Amino acid sequence: MLSKFSYKRVASVNEAVAAAGRPGARILAGGTDLLGCLRDEVFTANTLVSLNGIKALKGISARPGGGLRIGALTTLSDVATNRQVSDSYAVLAQAAAAAASPQLRNQGTIGGNICQRPRCWYFRGDFHCLRKGGDTCFAVLGENEFHCILGGAPCFIVHPSDTAPALVALDARVSITGPKGPRTIPVASFFVLPAANVLKENVLVPGEVVTEILLDPPQAGARGTYRKVRDRGAFDFALAGAAVVVALADGKVRAARVVLSGVAPAPWRSAEAEKALVGRSLDAATVAQAAAAAVKDAAALPQNEYKIALVRGVLEETLLGLA
Ligand SMILES: Cc1cc2nc3c(=O)[nH]c(=O)nc-3n(C[C@H](O)[C@H](O)[C@H](O)COP(=O)(O)OP(=O)(O)OC[C@H]3O[C@@H](n4cnc5c(N)ncnc54)[C@H](O)[C@@H]3O)c2cc1C
Repeated sequence: MLSKFSYKRVASVNEAVAAAGRPGARILAGGTDLLGCLRDEVFTANTLVSLNGIKALKGISARPGGGLRIGALTTLSDVATNRQVSDSYAVLAQAAAAAASPQLRNQGTIGGNICQRPRCWYFRGDFHCLRKGGDTCFAVLGENEFHCILGGAPCFIVHPSDTAPALVALDARVSITGPKGPRTIPVASFFVLPAANVLKENVLVPGEVVTEILLDPPQAGARGTYRKVRDRGAFDFALAGAAVVVALADGKVRAARVVLSGVAPAPWRSAEAEKALVGRSLDAATVAQAAAAAVKDAAALPQNEYKIALVRGVLEETLLGLA
């Protein structure tokens, strides 16, 4: 049941920071994740601070000197269909289009997408698990077919966002404004693994608001793509996926970013796979080596061994698709 809360619609980022910093306040964007969490009593809120009156947080624009700025309140639909995004950052347009359903993409925002809470059924269910301040990760001895194979322990969630791995693959940065002022950090540094802090998935502290995503101009010869495998075609979270950006010169990979989704508690950049690609052509042997390198350190739980083969296959397909 949805418990009582007050609703505060703010008109500026500074107002949002002040209101969201109060105890019990939570930031509301599209509400597609937050309201479900409140309804299912995953956590509580006494005030929802709606960002929807802040016009400056909406829309996609060119940055002086090249690249794009995407306001945190831009919907996933707008990211997926924006011409500048699909022309120059296909990996991001494809990831946004692969997230959720058309209705959810029309309502859900990119800021909310990277800040959404994990979908682990113990976290979302009536279990006082580690991530809720308890002392047990119920997935370890429980139903763990959808949990992580990389970067887990002591909690084995997977990060649910499709856009986050694409943003990491693009070396995007995220701007945040909070009680101590604004800061801009790489999206890759935004996420927190369970070993560092089991209670949160990102570096935000109370009162901090994600304001925008910044993309640099694409590198010469760069191409990228996002591929995701899910249980059903209609809409579902990734069982495994790969966001890949490679820059090619003279038929060889000059630079590569390989970021996995659906298999780790944060978008999982595979430096091993990238190393296997750089300096080589994207042929079947190189691609197979890179995919094997990406799962070298994978450790399956009793029910999710299948994810090792799955992510390896997804990555091979993704890389061959770029060749
Ligand atoms: C049935 C279903 C299927 C889905 N499938 C997928 C999928 O396949 N792939 C995928 O990626 N996602 C999926 N989602 C998640 C969906 O994409 C997200 O719920 C959505 O992007 C969240 O955006 P929102 O604006 O609605 O966020 P909200 O629900 O408003 O907020 C989500 C969280 O982020 C915080 N937050 C929001 N905006 C900010 C901000 N600017 N600064 C700081 N904190 C903020 C909120 O406090 C809250 O904790 C699915 C959701 C549902 C319900």
